[in-house]
Amino acid sequence: MSEVVDPATGEVVGFVPATSIGEVDAAIARADAAFRRWRGVAPGERARVLRRFAAVVDAHLEELARLEVRNSGHTIGNARWEAGNVRDVLDYYAGAPERLTGRQIPVPGGLDVTFHEPLGVVGVIVPWNFPMPIAAWGFAPALAAGNTVVLKPAELTPLTALRLAELAREAGVPDDVFTVLPGAGSVVGERFVTHPAVRKVCFTGSTEVGTRIMAGCAAQVKRLTLELGGKSANLVFADADLERAAATAPYAVFDNAGQDCCARSRILVQRPAYDRFLKLLEPGVRALRVEDPARETAEMGPLISAAQRDRVAGYVDGANVAFAGSRPDGPGFWYAPTVLLADSPADRHWREEIFGPVVSVLPFDDEADAFRLANDTEYGLSGSVWTRDVGRAVRVARAVEAGNLSVNSHSSVRYWTPFGGMKRSGLGRELGPDALHAFTDVKNVFIATEE
Ligand code: NAP
Ligand code: MG
Repeated sequence: MSEVVDPATGEVVGFVPATSIGEVDAAIARADAAFRRWRGVAPGERARVLRRFAAVVDAHLEELARLEVRNSGHTIGNARWEAGNVRDVLDYYAGAPERLTGRQIPVPGGLDVTFHEPLGVVGVIVPWNFPMPIAAWGFAPALAAGNTVVLKPAELTPLTALRLAELAREAGVPDDVFTVLPGAGSVVGERFVTHPAVRKVCFTGSTEVGTRIMAGCAAQVKRLTLELGGKSANLVFADADLERAAATAPYAVFDNAGQDCCARSRILVQRPAYDRFLKLLEPGVRALRVEDPARETAEMGPLISAAQRDRVAGYVDGANVAFAGSRPDGPGFWYAPTVLLADSPADRHWREEIFGPVVSVLPFDDEADAFRLANDTEYGLSGSVWTRDVGRAVRVARAVEAGNLSVNSHSSVRYWTPFGGMKRSGLGRELGPDALHAFTDVKNVFIATEE
C-alpha cells in the first residue's frame, strides 16, 4: 500500500495498493490475450467504444477535476481543462480506426499494399505532473490503433488514472484492453521494459529515467516514445509588445507551479528592453494568486511533495533573487513564484530543469546571441519568441532547436497538433494526426497477379 497525500494540506487522503511483479505479469498476459480480440474488432465498433469512453469521461469531468485537485494540488481551473483534454483526445482518436489507411504502390506483376498493424500490448508510464492528459496521450491513440494498454501512474498521483480505468469499463471498453497498474517505477515500470509481450513503451518523465528506459528497450528492440525534461526559452526582443510579453510570462512558467516540461523557465530579454521588462514583470508575479487550488480564483497551487519543494528551494539558495510572489502559510508543499537574475549561462539555475515556480532571466544583445543562448542546453522541448518583426519571428522559430515553438504566445499543446522534444527532451511525437503511426508497424504485402 502506498499513501496518497493532498499536497495542499499534507494530509493523507487514501491508500493505493502497489502491484507486485507477479500481478504485473498476469495483467500483461491478460492484455496480450485481449489484444488478439481487440485488434479484430471492426474499425467502426472500436471507434464507437472510444466515443462512448469520451462521453463517459465528459459526464464525470467535475468529479475527475476535483479528484486531481485533491491528489495533485492542481488549480480547479487547470484540472477541469485536464479532464476535458482526456475527453477531447479520446474523441479525436475515435475518428482514427476507420481512417487508418495504408497505400497501394504500383509494382509490376502484382498488387502491393501496406497495412498499419497494431503492435500488441503498449506500456504507458506516466509522471505526476499531468496525470490525466499524459495518460490519455498514450492510451487513446494506442487503443484506437488496435493495441491493448497497461498503464502505470506515478506513485504520487494514481487516483485519476484508476478512476479512468473504471470509466472505461463503464463505457464498454472490453476487459483487459485498458488496465491501470499502480505501483513503483522500479517494479511496474521496469517490468514494462523487460517483459517481452509489451511491444512498446510510452514514457514521460525525467531525462535520467528516460535514458535508462531507452537502454532497456534496446535489448528487445522495443518501440519507444520519450517525452522528457525541458529548459525552454522565452525570447523577448526589444521590438515586442513588452506589456503583453511581461503579462503572460508568469503564466508560461508558473502554471502548474512550474511542474511542466514546457515551462518557459529561461527568459531572455534583449538588452535595451531588459530593465523595462523586469519592471513590467514584477507586478504580475507579485499579484499571482497562490492559494487553495480548490478555489475558483486560484492561479497556482502547491508543489507535489515536500521533496520537490526542497529540491526547488535548493536552486534558489544563494542565487540572485530579483523578486518573488506570495504563498500561503501553514501546511502543504507551497513555494512562492520566484524570479532569479542569472549572472551567466553557467549558473546552475539557468542550466538545470528545476520543475518548480522559479524562472531565470538573462539579457542578450542580438539575434545571433539569442540563438546561441537559447540553444545552449541539452534540452529542446518548447520555446516562445516575442517580436513584431515577422521575418525575425520566422527566423528565430526555425533556429531554436525545440519541438514546439510559439510566436507572440506561449501555447504548446493542442491535441490535434504534434507535440514532443528535440535533443534530450525526447524521441518521437505525441498527439496530432501522425501519433497513431507511432502505435503501429507498417507491413508491406505483395500479391502476385500473373498467371
Ligand atoms: P521520474 O522518476 O522520471 O518518473 C516518471 C515516471 O517513471 C513515474 O511513473 C515513475 O514511477 C516512473 N519510473 C521511475 N523509475 C522508473 C524505472 N526505473 N523504470 C520505469 N519507470 C520508472 O520523474 P520524477 O522522479 O517523478 O521527477 C523527477 C524530475 O523529473 C522532476 O523534478 C522533473 O525535473 C522531471 N520530470 C519531467 C517530466 C516531464 O513531463 N517531462 C515529468 C515528471 C518529472 P514512480 O512515480 O513510481 O517513481
Ligand atoms: Mg524518480
